[in-house]
Amino acid sequence: MVMGDIATGTDVLVIGGGPGGYVAAIRAAQRGLATTLVERDAYGGTCLNHGCIPSKAFITAADVAHDAGGAEEMGVHADPVVDASAMADWKDGVVDELTGGVETLCEANGVDLIDGTAAFEDEHTARIAHGGEGQGMETVEFEHAVVATGSRPLSIPGFDFADDPVWSSRNALSTDDVPDRLVVVGAGYIGMELSTTFAKLGADVTVVELLDDVLPGYEDDLSGVVRRRAERLGIDFNFGESAAEWTGGADGITVRTETEDGEESAYDADRVLVAVGREPVTDTLELESVGLTPDDDGFLATDEQMRTALDHVFAVGDVAGEPMLAHKASAEGIVAAEAAAGEPVAFDHRAIPAAVFTDPEIGTVGLTEAEAADQGFDPVVGETPLRANGRALTLNDTDGFVRVVAEADAGFLLGAQIVAPEASELVAEAALAIEMGATLEDVAGTVHTHPTLSEAVVEAAEHARGEAIHTRNR
Ligand code: FAD
Repeated sequence: MVMGDIATGTDVLVIGGGPGGYVAAIRAAQRGLATTLVERDAYGGTCLNHGCIPSKAFITAADVAHDAGGAEEMGVHADPVVDASAMADWKDGVVDELTGGVETLCEANGVDLIDGTAAFEDEHTARIAHGGEGQGMETVEFEHAVVATGSRPLSIPGFDFADDPVWSSRNALSTDDVPDRLVVVGAGYIGMELSTTFAKLGADVTVVELLDDVLPGYEDDLSGVVRRRAERLGIDFNFGESAAEWTGGADGITVRTETEDGEESAYDADRVLVAVGREPVTDTLELESVGLTPDDDGFLATDEQMRTALDHVFAVGDVAGEPMLAHKASAEGIVAAEAAAGEPVAFDHRAIPAAVFTDPEIGTVGLTEAEAADQGFDPVVGETPLRANGRALTLNDTDGFVRVVAEADAGFLLGAQIVAPEASELVAEAALAIEMGATLEDVAGTVHTHPTLSEAVVEAAEHARGEAIHTRNR
C-alpha cells in the first residue's frame, strides 16, 4: 500500500459494472456478502451505454421510419422525415434511464460503488485509481474478486478509431447524424444490425465482408433470409473482400478493398464502420501480479462455477469467452456470486439463446440438427414457414420460419432456429422448454394465443411429430 492511500476491506470485489459485474454485485449483496463494485467509465457497461440498448433504440426508430414510409400496400401514405439529432436525444434518454437504474439498484441492495480503474496488486488486494489528476488511489482488500471487465471493438490495420471518418460501433451509436454513404466492414451481427439500421434511416450502405455470406456461425437458411431482405433495402454486399485502407477527409472518403487474389475495389463513403469483432479487456488488470494468464485471445478460462485458476477469483461475461452476450454475462455473474457465497451452483451452457436484431430477426437456442447428430443424438426436425402463420400475414411480414430440433425417441427439445419478426422474443419459449426438459408433445400440447407468431412454435413441434395442421407433413 502506498502512503496516503485509503484502505478498505470487502467480501467480494467486482471489477466492471456491465451486465456481468453489476448483476454479480447485486446477487452477492443479496446473499449477505459485503460487496464493492468498481467501474471506470459508466455503470451498465458496453451493453447499456454503447451496445445492446442504444443499438435497439436506433433500430426501433429506424423501423418506425421505414415501416411508416413503406405501408402504401395497406393504404397508409406517409413520408417520414428523420431528425437524427432528436432521435439521438431520445436514445440517450433511454440509456440514461437504464444506467441510472443500475446505480439505484446497486445502492438499494447495499453494494458499495467506487468510480475508478482497478488493477490487482496481490492475490487479495486491488488498487483503484480514481479518474482524473490528483483524485487519488484506493486499496481494497477482498476475499473474492469477480473480473467482469468486458470487451472492446477490434480494429484492423489502416483503420484507426481515433480518425474521424472511422467508426467503431460505439461511434456509430453516438452519432446525431445519418451519413449519406456508409461503408460497413464486417457482416457479423453488429455489422448487420447497424447496416440495416442506417439503410432504413436513409444511408446508402455498402458492406464489405471477407467471408462468403452474412452472419457467419448461423445456418445458411437463416442468414440467407436476412441477406435477401437487406438486399431489398438496397444494401450492397461485397463478399470475399478485406478492407485495406481508407483515404480522403471531411468531404468524403474512399475505402479500398482486396480479395485473396489481389483484386482491388474502391467504395466512396462519408464514414466507414469497422465491425469485425470484439476482444476481451484483460490486459489492464495486472493479472500477472496474481499469477493469472489469459489465453492467446485474452480470455480467462473458468470452471463451471466461473472460478479462474485461482479459486477465489471469478471471471464472468465477455472476458470469460463466447458467446459474448449480455444475458450470458448476467447468468454467469449470478453463478459467480452464489458460488462465492458457498452455494453449490454451476453454469449450464445448454440453453443460452442468441438473437440478431436484423429485419427479420434471428433467434437461436441449443443445438442445430447437425450439432445434435454430432453429439450422438438421433435428431428429429420440425419446421413451419411464416407464411402459414396468420399473425405473420397480418403483420405483412412473412419471410422466415420456425424450426425445432428434438431427440427422436422421447421427443426432448434440443434446439430451435427462428428467423422471423420478434424471433428474439419467440426463442425464449424454446429456451424454457430446453431448460425444463420439455418434449415436443409438451410444446405442441400447450395452448397458445391466436393469432400470434408463437403459434408457429407449436406448429413446428407438431410438424416434428408428423402432426402439423397448417403445414404439409413430411
Ligand atoms: P461490459 O458490458 O463490456 O462491461 C465491462 C465494464 O467494465 C465496462 O463498463 C468497463 O468500463 C469496465 N471496466 C473495464 N476495465 C475496468 C477496470 N480495470 N476497472 C474498472 N472498470 C473496468 N449482447 C446481447 O446480449 N444482446 C444484444 O442485442 C447486444 N447488442 C450489442 C450491440 C453492440 C453494438 C455491441 C458492441 C454489443 C452488443 N451486445 C449485445 C454484447 C454485450 O454488450 C456484451 O456481451 C455485454 O455488455 C458484456 O457484458 P460484460 O459485463 O461482460 O462487459
